Amino acid sequence: MQHDFYRDTWVEVNLDAISHNVKSMKHHIGEDTEIIAVVKANGYGHGALKVAESALTSGATMLAVAFLDEAIALRHSGIEAPILILGATRAADAQLAITYNITLTVFSLDWLNEAKQYIEAGELQLHVKLDTGMSRLGVRESEDLATIFNFVKESSEFTITGIFTHFATADEKDLHYFHAQYEKFQELLRAVSHQGLLVHCGNSATGLRFPGKLYNAVRLGISMYGLSPSAEIKNELPFILEEAFSLHAKLVHVKRIPKGTKVSYGATYEAEEDEWIGTIPIGYADGWIRSLRDSDVLIEGRRAPLVGRICMDQCMVRLPYEIPVGTTVTFIGKQHNERISVDEVAKRLNTINYEVTCMISSRVPRKFVRDKKIIELSNPLLSNVSKES
Ligand SMILES: *Cc1c(COP(=O)(O)O)cnc(C)c1O
Repeated sequence: MQHDFYRDTWVEVNLDAISHNVKSMKHHIGEDTEIIAVVKANGYGHGALKVAESALTSGATMLAVAFLDEAIALRHSGIEAPILILGATRAADAQLAITYNITLTVFSLDWLNEAKQYIEAGELQLHVKLDTGMSRLGVRESEDLATIFNFVKESSEFTITGIFTHFATADEKDLHYFHAQYEKFQELLRAVSHQGLLVHCGNSATGLRFPGKLYNAVRLGISMYGLSPSAEIKNELPFILEEAFSLHAKLVHVKRIPKGTKVSYGATYEAEEDEWIGTIPIGYADGWIRSLRDSDVLIEGRRAPLVGRICMDQCMVRLPYEIPVGTTVTFIGKQHNERISVDEVAKRLNTINYEVTCMISSRVPRKFVRDKKIIELSNPLLSNVSKES
């Protein structure tokens, strides 16, 4: 999967950080609890395949994604580990899931009845989802749960291998709702025999804070990438998380503009004195969205402000002095003693760190680093272009 790129904008993904975070979580939750590495949304924007490989060699035993397409892509890339789809899948695609040996989430009897008609060979593996308070997907009543278990017992097309729920507030200081959901989960579990099943309820926040409440697996997402599930619990993490994601580009043009000169669309920025302005080849189509105007970037180890509107493919920075074309500009990450964290960008956008790494678009190539060396490049744009042609 070695793809070149011809553009000086890239995401760097530190796979050692992924390994560190997975191993630390494994140590924290103990031998008997499995790690399901959550690599949906292209590994939260990091690159699903390389993250999956790193997680699996660091102690994870299963992967989870949101949609069947994501799972099939991983299978085609050579991933053989168990994969769980967390979202809803069409009943009509049940046979496809069997063919690719992918476990689906189920939460309704109607779905099972419909899927049954599409299964011609093999047995579909299922995790049953319980809704204990998210009101997103899941069985809500003990009777419905028992009905689903009985239906599966009588059907040769299906086998239940897991049962799970998802918490709405595991990352908050106030844990009332969390505990209510936990109790509801216990209550629903009592309605069926779950011996031998993979029973899981925890996301990163639950794994970090309640390693004793995980049953036998944790679904590790955000903290595998080195990010805190929320700002609220950032100061009480049980081990150090290492951020894997950084975003960089290189200056492509540098010039001195006289006082009064305007910058970018709308001519909304005006130089207050003679200024050095640099142009950077990243814009809102790359996910560096227009509301990030005026945010800082790092150049030569110090902060410099973006000025003027962010364009689709480019933006401008006010430099403290003349800096050569080709100098690296860091949007997220570290330079010398300065750092712009994913959390800083999230705060500026009034959103959560999850959204920031997800929104850096696939137009930005990913460099995968292990042991300080680039081990692979991925550029979906050119993934079908062979090097010879
Ligand atoms: C995305 C997701 C996770 C991962 O949550 P994090 O907070 O990123 O650890 C776990 N479970 C389900 C059902 C999810 O959709």
